[in-house]
Amino acid sequence: MNPQTDSGKPGSLKEIQAAEAKLLVQTYERNPLLFVSGQGVRLRDEQGNEYLDLLSGIGVCALGYQHPAITGALQQQSHGLLHTSNLFYHRGTSELALRLTEITGLDRVFFCNTGTEAWEAALKLARAHALRLRSQGRKIGTGILAMEDSFHGRTMGSLATTHKLKYREPFEPVMPGVSFVPFNDVEALRAAFSSDVCAIAIEVIQGEGGIHPVSPLFLAAARELCDSTGALLLLDEIQSGMGRTGRWCAYQHYGIQPDVTTLAKPLAGGVPIGAMLCSEEASRALAPGMHGTTFGGNPLACAVAIAVIDEIKQSRLLDHVASLGGYFLGRLRELQTRFPCIREVRGMGLMIGVELESESLARQTLQDMMEHRIILNRTHETVLRFLPPYILSRGDVDHTIDALSELLATHSRFSTQPTAVVDGEKIHG
Ligand SMILES: *Cc1c(COP(=O)(O)O)cnc(C)c1O
Repeated sequence: MNPQTDSGKPGSLKEIQAAEAKLLVQTYERNPLLFVSGQGVRLRDEQGNEYLDLLSGIGVCALGYQHPAITGALQQQSHGLLHTSNLFYHRGTSELALRLTEITGLDRVFFCNTGTEAWEAALKLARAHALRLRSQGRKIGTGILAMEDSFHGRTMGSLATTHKLKYREPFEPVMPGVSFVPFNDVEALRAAFSSDVCAIAIEVIQGEGGIHPVSPLFLAAARELCDSTGALLLLDEIQSGMGRTGRWCAYQHYGIQPDVTTLAKPLAGGVPIGAMLCSEEASRALAPGMHGTTFGGNPLACAVAIAVIDEIKQSRLLDHVASLGGYFLGRLRELQTRFPCIREVRGMGLMIGVELESESLARQTLQDMMEHRIILNRTHETVLRFLPPYILSRGDVDHTIDALSELLATHSRFSTQPTAVVDGEKIHG
């Protein structure tokens, strides 16, 4: 950001960039920022600049940075055990599972370490469940219906249910048996469904796909179709769950209960953990030895996840997320009435997308916001995505709206002048 004061001294941004360029497999395009600490909803870079973080590490740091509930749990657990393996008991797994079954309305939990692993477990459970039904003489196949514009992770099974060709194609053949249905198209879902299908896979709010909530009719149709054959309804809440939308799970806004759900990102506020939750009936498909993981449900991750859940309850953060999210959405929609370059504002609670008229405008806005020291990101090319910590305040929202409003006003003035074309695509169009 500031080349004069950051000229390649040891541990500087420049030096780290050079080292990573040489040493890391180049899977990421990073922003040129080097964060060294954080407090509340703010991150601090190596030069002491503070940034308002509206992304929370892609929806992970739900309690912000250095939250006493998390630092306390980490400190306490550092004097206990970090790992035992799943060959033995420890106190954390059942304590966390009890909380997760209470908040989701599901019966049993399988713990793992990431989102994609939770989703893999869900897919494997669906296949095993169908096998069990077949062994009882029921007619049910192995097909999986996933949604267009879906994202479920990067391992081979999760990837097979992830729609974007760019993610999937270089690694083919991925897991077979998956068909994609246009999201929220009830007729297409009914047409694609048959007794060959063992699961319907849905993100209640598509995250990477641009913050698109499932429609109530579509979700109800998926539930009804699954009930008609014994197929499982798999709802991926890795991004939308754990309070992000003002309820523990986004499906609770719809009054529809899945057979299986997956949680991860904010579950332990930054410590890696994933969980696949399922009904008692579905859980019967997995017997000892059929699935497992070395690290899953370790004492450290469980202790921190318990602390996160208890803090969300004690500080009534679901109510805060719901009301602040409503305020944030309202203020963004106000902006939309002033700036026609905002195509749509979507979201629930603190999971919000602002669709702009072009990819280049979205890129530019993101970069300008970074210069205003506000962190967010872009998804599905044209959508600005907000996944702030739950502890965000009204003042933080007002500050964000002021910055966005200023930027868009500048852009609007700029783009009305024929000589100053901001939108690169228009040059070629
Ligand atoms: C992030 C995400 C995943 C994958 O989680 P990882 O922890 O990155 O493996 C899966 N599904 C959804 C909806 C996600 O947002």
